[in-house]
Amino acid sequence: MVTEAQLAANWAAVRQRVDEACQAAGRDPAEVNVLPVSKTFGPEVVRAALALGLHRFGENKVQEIRDKASVLAGAAIEWVVIGHLQTNKAKDVARLASEVQSLDRPDLAEALHRRLEAEGRCLDVLVQVKTAREETKSGLPADELPAFLTRLRAYPTLRVRGLMTLATLSDDAAEVRACFRLLRQWRDRCVAEGHDLPRLSMGMSGDFPLAIAEGATEVRIGTAIFGSRTQTSV
Ligand SMILES: *Cc1c(COP(=O)(O)O)cnc(C)c1O
Repeated sequence: MVTEAQLAANWAAVRQRVDEACQAAGRDPAEVNVLPVSKTFGPEVVRAALALGLHRFGENKVQEIRDKASVLAGAAIEWVVIGHLQTNKAKDVARLASEVQSLDRPDLAEALHRRLEAEGRCLDVLVQVKTAREETKSGLPADELPAFLTRLRAYPTLRVRGLMTLATLSDDAAEVRACFRLLRQWRDRCVAEGHDLPRLSMGMSGDFPLAIAEGATEVRIGTAIFGSRTQTSV
């Protein structure tokens, strides 16, 4: 397991690289948030991160949120769902998550809304848009975004805050950057149509400077903070 000292050093290094990427892009570092992605790491690692003052964590499996939340009951943690969500997980999400960044289809919005109403809660959501060419990458097809956003207005429990994407996994920086640019362009277009989308969640350990250059307001960082994952994920 990563030691607390190592974690502190990794966190400081990531924040510094994010700040440098902001400066290189002529942006204010205060505009870019880092979401630590704790997937596959146990509750003891999350506890060490809490000691550093982190309190929001990205997870891609609802079962992992359940497991960690039960061990860490009482800690002030905001769990952020960033992975593909099945509708049958909506109940746990409505109970445990503070935010979903992987909202990508109407039936999921409907299921979350029903469960949130039952819980008497609201959830911040980002719509995950497919910008990568790989077939396996999930997300709403970009050309369906305007109609989907309009449809989400029917669900008052879902506070739509912006968009999320995963770029193509590639060594070609231009190709990766094109994914991020596409998300920003769709955001701008939907904002022009009257939607309120202040947040753009894009960029991970391997590609976040490109995402920041294209306007990311949040980068989701796992490996560079917590170390490499032994378990496979995604
Ligand atoms: C795992 C994951 C990340 C973090 O990836 P790293 O390369 O470890 O920084 C970001 N976003 C999503 C959706 C993920 O599943």
